[in-house]
Order: sequence, then C-alpha cells, then structure tokens
Amino acid sequence: MSSYFTHLECSVPCGAPATDPRTVQHLCVCGAPLMARYDLAAARGWSRDSLAGRVASMWRYHEVMPLLDDEAPVTLGEGWTPMVPAPRLGAALGLSRLFIKDESLNPTNSFKARGLSAAVTRAAHLGATVLSIPTAGNAGNALAAYAARAGMDARVFMPRDVKTPFIRECELYGAHVTLVDGLITDAGRVAAETGTPLGWYDVSTLKEPYRIEGKKTMGYEVAEQLGWTLPDWIIYPTGGGTGMVGMWKAFAEMSALGWIDPVKRPKMVTVQASGCAPIIRAFEAGAEKAAPWENAHTVADGLRVPRAIGDFLVLRAVRDSGGAAVAVDDADMVAGMLDIGRLEGVSAAPEGGAALHALRTLIASGRVAPDDSVVLFNTGGALKYLDVLETR
Ligand SMILES: *Cc1c(COP(=O)(O)O)cnc(C)c1O
Repeated sequence: MSSYFTHLECSVPCGAPATDPRTVQHLCVCGAPLMARYDLAAARGWSRDSLAGRVASMWRYHEVMPLLDDEAPVTLGEGWTPMVPAPRLGAALGLSRLFIKDESLNPTNSFKARGLSAAVTRAAHLGATVLSIPTAGNAGNALAAYAARAGMDARVFMPRDVKTPFIRECELYGAHVTLVDGLITDAGRVAAETGTPLGWYDVSTLKEPYRIEGKKTMGYEVAEQLGWTLPDWIIYPTGGGTGMVGMWKAFAEMSALGWIDPVKRPKMVTVQASGCAPIIRAFEAGAEKAAPWENAHTVADGLRVPRAIGDFLVLRAVRDSGGAAVAVDDADMVAGMLDIGRLEGVSAAPEGGAALHALRTLIASGRVAPDDSVVLFNTGGALKYLDVLETR
C-alpha cells in the first residue's frame, strides 16, 4: 500500500531534527512523544472521493498511514466501525442528533486494535521479533492478537488485579503474561527493566510513535461517515490519551488535505474516572501537564492510568477545541453501560458508560444543546467487564 509518510518529528515540538522511520524510534531526544509526518502538500492531489469502495478497515486511509515502500499492513480488519444513530438514547437525553461510534466491534473488542495494528505493522517491517507492552487490559489483548498474526512473540505486563478475561485472552493468542503488583505505570517499569536488556521492542502508549497513527483513523472515519462534516461534540473516555490526540491530529491532516472546513472542529470532551482523573484535575487547574494521580481506582480498566506521557497533548486538544473535561463515578459508568445496552442494543464497556454519563452532565449544565450533533465513543465492549454488573 502506498503512503505519503516521510519522517518523525517531536510533538512539542522541541526543535530537534526530524528522525528517520527506517530505524527503530521511541521517544524524541527531549523525552516527548514523536509524531509521524506526511507530505500533505503532495497528498493534496488525493481526493476523498477515491475512498468509495475501498477496504472496510482503517487501512482505507493508507496514504496517511505509517507505511514505507508499499509495505503490507498486519491487519485483522480493524476500524471502519459502525456510526450507529442512537435515536432512543437521544430521546431519553433530549438530543436529536446522537451517534455512537461503536469500537466494541473491533478485533479483540476494543479500539486498541487500531493502534496495535499500526504499531505491529511498523515493528514487523523494522525486523522486531519480541514485542512488549505494559497494559491495563485491552491493549495487551490487541498486541497479543496482532503479534500472533505477524508471527512474533508478545510479552504482556499487567496489574495483578486485572479482570480475568483480559489475562485469558492474552493466553488465547499465545502471549506470555506477567502480572505485576500495582498499576499500569508499575507494569511499565517492570516491562522496561525486563525487556530493555534483551532488546525487546516496546509498544507502550505514545512511547512508540505508531499507535497514535492507528487511533487517528477514528477521526477520519467520523468525518467520512458523517458525510465530511464534523459533529459539534466528541465525547471520549481518556486513559493514556492516544485516541484524543490521534483524532485531533486527524482533523489537522484532513484540513491540510482540503477535505474538511479549515476552521470548524468538534469540541473535544475528555472523560475520566473520579478515582483516577489526572487530566481533569490539570484541566481545571489550568496546568499544561498533569501530576500523577495517587491511589488510582476504577472499574474501567482502560481509564486506570495515573500518569500519561502525552498528557500535555490531550490538554491542548481539549483547550484548543473549546471542549470540556468530566470525571465520572463508577456507579454512574455502570448505569451508563446499562442504558446504552437497554436503549440501543450496543455492548458498552464501563468506559463507554462513562462517556454517556459525562454527556448527561454537559446536557444538565446547558453546555450541550438539544440540537447539537454528538458522537459518543464506545471504546470497547462489555463482555470482559461483566462482573461489574454482578456487584450492583
Ligand atoms: C485503553 C482504553 C481507553 C483509553 O484510551 P486511551 O487512548 O489510552 O486514552 C478507553 N476505553 C477502553 C475500553 C480502553 O481499552
């Protein structure tokens, strides 16, 4: 598949020279995440009309994906998930234009598939053989599946108290699982201590530059599925923040391609758990970076991320968009899962339920108006979390 991918650049940017994607790259020399850049001026000859009839996966956007020399992707059909109109849930909330972007229908049940398909593709072409990841759950399952697909070894490091289905699904795809005392940040430390001396390829969120490229395709899909318009609001549960940062990057790219209105952007809403809300706290304090959250706890495993290396990028996207930052209690997330299931037949993880409750809060405060268009991200399915329904 052909692409306009050219180089990697610091996300700050700190002024360091461009780095070469033909060698293994992780962070910028300044310690910040690197971002893939494309020759978008040359790509302006690429018409969005050419997308009609293409493969029903995120690789339909291969021109803006990190591929070199017509490489083939490592794919299981991730992306191009349904944009489900949600009239019954909308009516219950008093909204006339509500959509659920249903990421539960990705391989391994969450949008992590997008990021890991892109990251494993690049790692495979760079000659990596052992891939390691610290994860709160879903990212480990996605890595395990894509590593199996590519014939590589996956080493997954997760918190010891992660829900059992996340462990079993890694085993299903033949991954090696290490359970670590503590949180994803502790898993990250152990993964690095174990893997660095052995030369394992680390695919931690934003510490490698390509997961964000997979996740940005959600932004392309929102525009394409809504007829090249963008919604007024995007409600997005945030852990490490790649989805948020990725979509914001996609809007800038589509604007440079001349595909969308150069000015109008959705207001981006970042949703976290009350028991782990570092980004919300930083947003409210007007800070540029987020201090680590102490004693993080929530039933939404994907949101149990006390410290994110891309925090400043999430905060920038929320502020530049005129969006909002909302923390949600666990009980309200579970109620949200049940509402999405009961009213629309969509299987929602607690993270999706959190997005719904955040939307309710914004409607109650008058920020979201009845005729605003809203895309609610259901980032994963309910099946791996069903124990949260038993303890109600
Ligand atoms: C990982 C995860 C999130 C958080 O995503 P980030 O891009 O890391 O912010 C949200 N929901 C689910 C279901 C997840 O697995």
